[in-house]
Amino acid sequence: MQTQWHAMSSADVLQHTQSNQQGLTSDEAQRRRQQQGPNTLPTIKPEPAWLRLARQFHNVLIYVLIGATGVTLLLQHYVDAGVIFAVIIINAIIGYYQEGKAESAIAGLRHMLAPTALVVRDGKQYHIPAEQLVVGDIVILEAGARVPADLRLLETHSLQVQEALLTGESAAVNKQIDLLAEQTPLGSRACMAYLGTWVTTGHAQGVVTATGSNTEFGHIGVMLSEVSRLTTPLVEQTARFSKWLTFLILISAGILLAYASWLELKPFAELFMIMVSIAVAAIPEGLPAVMTITLAVGVQAMAKRHAIVRHLPSIETLGAVSVICTDKTGTLTRNEMMVAALTTAGAQLTVSGDGYAPDGAVIDTATPASNRLSSDMNDAGRIAMLCNDAQLHQAEDGWQVVGDPMEGALLAFAAKLGWSLDHDRRQWHRHDEIPFDAESRYMATLNHDHRGNAFIHVKGAPEQVLSMCSHQLVGNQSEHLVHEYWLNQAQQLAAQGLRVLALAQRPVTDSKVVLEQADVNEGLILVGLVGLIDPPRNETIAAIQQCQQAGIGVKMITGDHPGTAAAIARQVGIENAENVLTGTDLDQLSDHEFHEAMQHTHVFARTSPAHKLRLVQALQAQQHIVAMTGDGVNDAPALKRADVGIVMGIRGSEATKQAADVVLTDDNFASIVAAISQGRTVYDNLKKVISWDIPTSVGESMAIIIALLLGLALPITPVQLLWVNLVTAITLGLTLAFEPTEPNSMCRPPRHRSEPLLRGALVWHVVFVSVLFVSALYGAFQYALNQGQSIEVARSMALNTAVVLEIFHLFFIRNIYGPSFTWRALRGTRALWLAIILVLLAQALVTYLPAAQKLLGIAALNWQQVGLVMCLGVALLLIVELEKQIRTRVFNWRL
Ligand code: ATP
Repeated sequence: MQTQWHAMSSADVLQHTQSNQQGLTSDEAQRRRQQQGPNTLPTIKPEPAWLRLARQFHNVLIYVLIGATGVTLLLQHYVDAGVIFAVIIINAIIGYYQEGKAESAIAGLRHMLAPTALVVRDGKQYHIPAEQLVVGDIVILEAGARVPADLRLLETHSLQVQEALLTGESAAVNKQIDLLAEQTPLGSRACMAYLGTWVTTGHAQGVVTATGSNTEFGHIGVMLSEVSRLTTPLVEQTARFSKWLTFLILISAGILLAYASWLELKPFAELFMIMVSIAVAAIPEGLPAVMTITLAVGVQAMAKRHAIVRHLPSIETLGAVSVICTDKTGTLTRNEMMVAALTTAGAQLTVSGDGYAPDGAVIDTATPASNRLSSDMNDAGRIAMLCNDAQLHQAEDGWQVVGDPMEGALLAFAAKLGWSLDHDRRQWHRHDEIPFDAESRYMATLNHDHRGNAFIHVKGAPEQVLSMCSHQLVGNQSEHLVHEYWLNQAQQLAAQGLRVLALAQRPVTDSKVVLEQADVNEGLILVGLVGLIDPPRNETIAAIQQCQQAGIGVKMITGDHPGTAAAIARQVGIENAENVLTGTDLDQLSDHEFHEAMQHTHVFARTSPAHKLRLVQALQAQQHIVAMTGDGVNDAPALKRADVGIVMGIRGSEATKQAADVVLTDDNFASIVAAISQGRTVYDNLKKVISWDIPTSVGESMAIIIALLLGLALPITPVQLLWVNLVTAITLGLTLAFEPTEPNSMCRPPRHRSEPLLRGALVWHVVFVSVLFVSALYGAFQYALNQGQSIEVARSMALNTAVVLEIFHLFFIRNIYGPSFTWRALRGTRALWLAIILVLLAQALVTYLPAAQKLLGIAALNWQQVGLVMCLGVALLLIVELEKQIRTRVFNWRL
């Protein structure tokens, strides 16, 4: 029989779970964890190895190759059959191995995104991995949090939870703490919060009643899938393209076979083998594996640079981003705040100190000698301390904040005004609160002390708080509010780039224990303004410059004061920083005016999440590809709508993370730019793989087809062509997956939204390189014959030329934007040289090992012949490089 937690009072639940408001001790939590196991749901068993291996053969391209092996065996061409079979096996092994590696890399990333929970242990708050929760833990829920276990609520403030996953009810439900009748159905248990549901608004505390599979969610038997398919639109497009290409190749080979046998160019069996080898060489069987590896390498490279891709297709979209809409606090700035100024009705004071350390002084710049605290300053400190959810801890490396850094700074500020965070804070009990929300821009608490004093404390954006005040505190007297004075002071603080907050209060009677909106709407007494410094991150300026070079617009969209926004925008180098539009301005613009404003305005202040959505839509209507950052729950619609939704890993709520494509583990703007650069690299590498593979296959096949149609001796025999395909297709092509970012990749404008992969320039490249391949193979072959060499030597020349050309073509493809003859370009990568060495060794083996020579029908080459083959490779590189320079510089026509 299950315990009916909802039918028990809070005190009973605490007793039953052997817990209390101070939380478990760390030792007890550790002990329970060993007993109860981790707070995780069972995962779907991974696919067995044999099935994964078998799946590698389940592909139209491979079916064709298997068919070809069968037919070749029937024709008793055992060597050819062996070579084709080797291609199939090697392909499957590489596919199997790389797919496994790629998927475990992605699963590893998922691990980095494991949900956390805010828990109270040993009387202090900590963020811990949700997996470590045990029954009896006290958990704090905030807006946007994912409920990390089943909880009996002990305290709620305007708490609403979305339980659709569990009950199917899509509207968020209100929660409270009173016990309910035993038979209350799951969907109506207002005093419980269940694992897997979401907090939409409010704030609460609860005690864990069940974890992992014992939770209600666990009872449904939900299994979590650890792996996702590694694919993107481009990869799917290529897979479809490969299938069509295969189909086309088979039809062409069929027609060619019919035509050649009608003309009786060769005996049918020989013609058939020629067609089989052409088809096998031309089919891009390695392409899917190489594409997958390219993606996996890209995903890992991004993770190293603090961007975790949750939704794989975004890797490609990132590369095409043309506007980044970023928030300010913590993304462009460090989010290491410190109160630097305090303005009261009678004085402008500066606050000294370092970081979150509660040591420093509040100095009146006008009369530095008078160090006495006035009553209003004292009250400002009390509001800062009590209208506050953060905690300060002294760690080995200095003072640390648990919670909002701005609130941490306010605690340090209160301490500098003489308040004891341990003692005084505990003297004041918080009866009720109105949590902060980005729409209303203020937070309020109702606090009582033990001596019958009670206050409503409010902090928030100055305009907002001013509209709720009727009086101001001067010393210990309250006077009529002088609105202009405060607006003026707020403007002055903001112009210095300080984040400004207003602090207000209202004494209430001891009997008041519930705080409602109506209590704070008017009649508050303004106590003071605080100005907080939040310096820009060092990397931001360079990252913004990089965006400008890369043709990517940067728009700052902040909830902060326009003055602060403009000052910070100027400091980090955003264009036209003085031209700030506020949320109110935006509301007054028609759609047309809004679109116009988008073009020249780059700083938007006092915006609410709804404005973000409108901004994304307007930018997309102008054909922009938009990356949008966010952290709060209300940002989710804008993040979903953006082409790439980016959420802050540290500040962002779990709900927002679910809506995002990319999670930044360091909340840093520079990481967005790094991810875009990586996105461009991945796209380029995918393009390079295709640009290298197709002309190579077409060139080699054409050499045979032309010889056949002209009735000439074949420069390469079917078995030789199969061999080239075997040694180069996967080894050389695969190296492109590991290509680093080209140096100038962030110096060109973003690619257009609808840019197709197979563009005119690529088609031209295929034709041009194929012609060069055919000419070089023929040239080498004919040269040897003219020199009176045997046909085996001539074919050996042609075969080795094919391989060498592929290598040099690879050097060209590595730099489709920049020059190929720089030290960096020629130095290559480790993967590149490893593949080249492997291929050259294999070539040396077949060229000089008598048994292999016999199998392939070739002969050894002397040094001059080897030298000539090498020269052909260099010549190819020189010619295509020259063509590239002319094409890109004169005609601005890129692959
Ligand atoms: P950004 O959107 O760049 O992150 P932001 O953090 O200033 O900027 P919000 O979090 O929406 O944006 O905050 C908007 C305003 O609300 C702030 O400028 C501040 O005046 C006020 N504010 C922010 N946090 C709190 C809080 N915890 N309590 C009271 N007021 C707050």
